Amino acid sequence: MELPKYDLHCHTTASDGALEPLVLLERAKQKQIQILAITDHDTLAGIRQFTDQDLEGIQLIPGVEFTCAWNQRVLHIVGLGLNVDSEELQGYLSNLAELRLARARKVADQLISMGLPDLYQAAKEKGGDGVIGRPHFAQVMFEQGLVSSEQQAFKKYLGVGKKGDVKMEWPSLTEALAVIKNAGGVSILAHPTKYKMTFTKLRGAINDFTDAGGDGIEVSYPGMTPDHHFQLLRIAKEKNMMISAGSDFHSPNHTWTDLGKYPPLKSDENHVLNYLLN
Ligand code: AMP
Ligand code: MN
Ligand code: MN
Ligand code: MN
Repeated sequence: MELPKYDLHCHTTASDGALEPLVLLERAKQKQIQILAITDHDTLAGIRQFTDQDLEGIQLIPGVEFTCAWNQRVLHIVGLGLNVDSEELQGYLSNLAELRLARARKVADQLISMGLPDLYQAAKEKGGDGVIGRPHFAQVMFEQGLVSSEQQAFKKYLGVGKKGDVKMEWPSLTEALAVIKNAGGVSILAHPTKYKMTFTKLRGAINDFTDAGGDGIEVSYPGMTPDHHFQLLRIAKEKNMMISAGSDFHSPNHTWTDLGKYPPLKSDENHVLNYLLN
């Protein structure tokens, strides 16, 4: 089967994306994307706004990118094909929204302890109606001239191991996978080579992911090397996992990616679209 043009991982203003859901949808149509999964961090608010008319000419797959904990680390799990009316899913998401708000206060306090002003209110405003995350702090820090770029904000203050990378009691990997499954969705381990783990450690994570019922793995996304791509394809084959691909698009300002842009993937019987479209 020849796959239509698709993108199974992207963000809107409902989380840390720059484009309103409708604007993102329009951009996807302009780029001739036929199948789109919007996967905001820990929220479904973006995709709830669409009317049937908005969705003309494009097939929307309800998705989410869950933040969860595994072995003192944070993993991102993309859920695709979700029943957005699942009460369990809705309860889980409202808990995450509260957790993120409490975390934002702690992030602001950590930044204060490093000599920065209190950015809580500004970051919250930046987040608007969406769920708040570290990128909103990075944007505020850049706008206030406290850092030279958003990436610099992560490098100095917010990234892995920095003070602003506040540890939270995120739901466990097992909990995240169960919620996706109970909402009728498929679970995909997002961007596996972006966690700064060795491949040995990553294999451990993937084993635990599949043992806990995880279905598939992203094997194509921006910023990966060809070697990573082929190693992930090999692991997926070995473990009989589904494979998925997406741009992880956040903003038109991020020149390294755009909707539909990732290393091309050949049609494969284990491609998650074959499952989602049947
Ligand atoms: P959070 O959801 O608050 O944990 O923030 C995670 C988000 O921050 C990711 O989804 C990315 O959009 C962004 N991010 C993480 N690390 C970096 C980085 N080093 N530079 C720029 N953005 C980053
Ligand atoms: Mn993000
Ligand atoms: Mn992610
Ligand atoms: Mn993402």
